[in-house]
Amino acid sequence: MSVRSTWRGVVRSPLGITALVLVSLVALTALFAPAIWGAQAERVDPTAITQGPSAAHLLGTDTLGRDVLARVLVATQLSVALAVAAVIIGVVVGALLGTAPSVLPRWAGRPITTLVNIAVAFPGLLLALFFAVIFGVGTTGSVLAIGLALAPGFARLTQTLSAAIAGRDFIAASRVVGASRLRILFRHILPNIGEPLIVNATVAAGSTLLAFAGLSFLGLGVQVPAYDWGRLLGEGLNRIYLNPAAALGPATAVVVAGLAFNLLGETAAAALGGRSARPQRRPRTTDSPASPLAQVGGDDVVLLVDDLRVSLPTPSGWVTPVRGVGFTISRGEAIGVVGESGSGKSLTALAAAKLIEAPGVVTARQLEFCGTPLLTTPDRALRGLLGTSLAMVFQDPMTSFNPTRRIGSQLAEAASEHQAISRRDAAVRAVDRLRAVRVPAAERRAHQYPHEFSGGMRQRAMIAMGLMNHPRLIIADEPTTALDVTVQRQVLQLLAAVRRDTDAAILLISHDIAVVAQTCDRVLVMYAGRIVEDLPAAELHTAARHPYTRALLDVIPDLDTDRTTALKTIPGRPPAPSAFPPGCAFADRCPLASAVCRERDPELVSDDRGRRVACWHPVTGDGPAAALPVITTALPVTDQEGAVR
Ligand code: SF4
Repeated sequence: MSVRSTWRGVVRSPLGITALVLVSLVALTALFAPAIWGAQAERVDPTAITQGPSAAHLLGTDTLGRDVLARVLVATQLSVALAVAAVIIGVVVGALLGTAPSVLPRWAGRPITTLVNIAVAFPGLLLALFFAVIFGVGTTGSVLAIGLALAPGFARLTQTLSAAIAGRDFIAASRVVGASRLRILFRHILPNIGEPLIVNATVAAGSTLLAFAGLSFLGLGVQVPAYDWGRLLGEGLNRIYLNPAAALGPATAVVVAGLAFNLLGETAAAALGGRSARPQRRPRTTDSPASPLAQVGGDDVVLLVDDLRVSLPTPSGWVTPVRGVGFTISRGEAIGVVGESGSGKSLTALAAAKLIEAPGVVTARQLEFCGTPLLTTPDRALRGLLGTSLAMVFQDPMTSFNPTRRIGSQLAEAASEHQAISRRDAAVRAVDRLRAVRVPAAERRAHQYPHEFSGGMRQRAMIAMGLMNHPRLIIADEPTTALDVTVQRQVLQLLAAVRRDTDAAILLISHDIAVVAQTCDRVLVMYAGRIVEDLPAAELHTAARHPYTRALLDVIPDLDTDRTTALKTIPGRPPAPSAFPPGCAFADRCPLASAVCRERDPELVSDDRGRRVACWHPVTGDGPAAALPVITTALPVTDQEGAVR
């Protein structure tokens, strides 16, 4: 369903029709009433002072004999204009306050957040009165007062919406290509929070009318000779026992206009909500030729990681979910990192891409990308290197792109950010790269929005974005998890082809050991924030020595798996980062665990063939994994020395 048809459907609903009729009524009155009834509203008639309703004056007259109905209609323009102006001030100031913490340095952003939190705690009308006293009585003062009183609410809304967007993959992708905070804010965050802000602003306009009526009623708002509904309401209430209609008229106008704005907001929310909830198309399953992986070796180290540690604050203190990880990736090499959720594999990849921000802390003996130390080189100097030489492919193809911008322009931005290339050339290159990753009708597709792409196509486009420059390393974090099996295969084949054609290294993060075994040269098995085994992918099924690796292999279903029984799982759960034991973290789930395992954490040691394993009792001997000791639901009993009984 297109955006236009979604809007059409909502607008044709009873809610939409009512909102449109009321808003049109208010707008037309505001536009034309002064011209039609302006003279009548100003005409003083000493012979008709303070009259009740009559055929000549449907709502009666005021103390100067002026027609109340005409004045109510004419006051529409000023009342609506004031409400709109105050809402604009509230939204703009609120958005500035709400987004400032994400643009400014931490020391400057924190006081703003605190200020907003304090201001939100005050009732809006109290704030409006406070500002009205500061700015003084009158039209300008009341607009500023109410506008600024609205700002904290919009600031909080902006902060919340921005925080939700900031965690999305396309923001991380922009940071990888080196986009500045300001650019990310204007190009990616604001366009994505604009819709809910507008909806809330429309709803706020209704309550703003009431706030103006309140201020004018208290004598702090519009002053003589100007008049709005609030002032007319105040005048009417003074004579309510003589002529109730004089108060009823402006009160009804406030209610109708407020209702119109509220219903308009509800209509917009329904349309936009319906649009975002639109079902996604199934990923296409077009065939693409197989591209067997090339066995590429090389001494050129692209990524050097030595004793990497990532620490994060939690309410109960700091935890270190990545503890001393070390590995290297050379040009053209594909390394797979496997492990259960929470093993630290994604955090390792994010640290390698410099995507872990404060308050997270990354330390390492060495963390180098293409020979450049990532932890000591200034961000500004790193931006160009990471932007041109590192590509990220994220897990969720739904969040990999900014949904408000066309695919082609997002790809083009990745190139124009770091290269002296014209917008036109960048667009041409974007189409070329889409073609390279086998996106059909690439030229047309480049003009489409992310939601018009299937999941598999979006992942292809993400890879194409990485190819806009000349990546030396592609980090793919669970790139196929959200895809069906056929599309998964195509994406893996595409990554393999890219590696073959560009000689880029690949770091593939996956919880699926079978995918990694088929795709990579080497496999790193992670458990509880550490690498527990590192071995060639070709030897995974025959030479894995760590009981955890064996367990991962054993639970993979194959064609002979009995489909009438439950799938095998590894019993137990990995320990939480806040509760890593002093010994081997796998001990509670390991059939070979001994006393020494529970007391001392085994080092990751290398054998003469460069394979590494961290285990006090590694499984020895070649042979099929299934023939070797593996985890079962009934754990074998071990003696003090660790021998299995
Ligand atoms: S044998 Fe010991 S050291 Fe090895 S995985 Fe099991 S518990 Fe850990």
